[in-house]
Amino acid sequence: MKILVTGGAGFIGSAVVRRAIAEGHGVVNVDRLTYAANLANVASVADDPRYAFEHADICDAAAMARIFAAHDPDAVMHLAAESHVDRSIDGPAAFIQTNIVGSYTLLEAARAHWRALPAARAATFRFHHVSTDEVYGALGETGLFTEATPYAPSSPYSASKAASDHLARAWGATYGLPVLVTNCSNNYGPFHFPEKLIPLTILNAGRNVRDWLYVEDHAAALLTVLRKGAVGETYNIGGHNEARNIDIVRMICALLDAMRPAGAPHDRLIAFVADRPGHDFRYAIDASRIGRDLGWRPSVTLEEGLRRTVAWYLDNEPWWRGVQQRQGVGARLGLAAQPSASHGMTG
Ligand code: NAD
Repeated sequence: MKILVTGGAGFIGSAVVRRAIAEGHGVVNVDRLTYAANLANVASVADDPRYAFEHADICDAAAMARIFAAHDPDAVMHLAAESHVDRSIDGPAAFIQTNIVGSYTLLEAARAHWRALPAARAATFRFHHVSTDEVYGALGETGLFTEATPYAPSSPYSASKAASDHLARAWGATYGLPVLVTNCSNNYGPFHFPEKLIPLTILNAGRNVRDWLYVEDHAAALLTVLRKGAVGETYNIGGHNEARNIDIVRMICALLDAMRPAGAPHDRLIAFVADRPGHDFRYAIDASRIGRDLGWRPSVTLEEGLRRTVAWYLDNEPWWRGVQQRQGVGARLGLAAQPSASHGMTG
């Protein structure tokens, strides 16, 4: 397949691009290269003859039409987004623009392309919209999100993703575009932007619970859904790895103690900070449908995924030093609204 991947210079998109090339697919990576992007994330495949890069904004209808015409893709995997919850609190406009208007613009470009395809190719064409479990809102101490959980997003980020999920499904129901939607839990792993919890390891009261999914497992799940998913279906993707933020931080400290004993004990560096406003207490995902119907399961435990992630950051200092030097990275974001009761942070 030739797959048009949007956001392929980001954290998850780049894992999808690397894996798709490794599986023998062609890839057109469409990315605007925002602050979150890093072409170093796809350097390992950049010279592959099956890889192409298009520097473009998904909100630019003319650019999208040109790119579809030039590359004639068999499928779209849509990951381009503004993705950081704290940034969405300080400046929601970019989230509305890219996540809603951009998704709409891409759906329209994909629909025009799909309608002009010969029947056999139109039948196998897929538009795979990649989303988050944050659209389901927050959970209490118990329970799981299923694909049937009603939407109840609480941040500008999750509301904009919810809107784009609805648009993708509507383009399937109204125009017959062969749409797939996946909603997944928090990812972690190599190439994760250092403003997110695991690479940053800044936290607060730490009671918040998240389900953690190793990014390489997520990329494998997405390509499985693209190949085998039922048109119009939604699949939750999770790691079966629920953990409190504070426990994640302590696990990272223990791994650092083992791998960099000179700085031990690293948990002396833990400091508690105020929570972001409107922070969801707990997310946990029921990923049984994708396991039952498509045979996908996560390949690593949280312990093993964190071990690989910590080792990767220790081995790749030039990558994260370069990203850290970008403007605004490392500053505390998302406190623009009035703080509510304190829980913890991630994103
Ligand atoms: P990221 O911020 O690392 O990467 C996003 C990429 O999209 C960047 O390369 C950026 O340059 C590009 N982009 C942004 N706006 C664009 C535009 N207007 N036109 C073209 N490209 C644009 O994000 P990520 O963490 O890799 O997330 C990828 C997708 O997965 C997002 O849709 C996100 O909502 C979803 N998701 C992420 C997580 C997570 O834990 N990170 C969890 C669930 C779902």
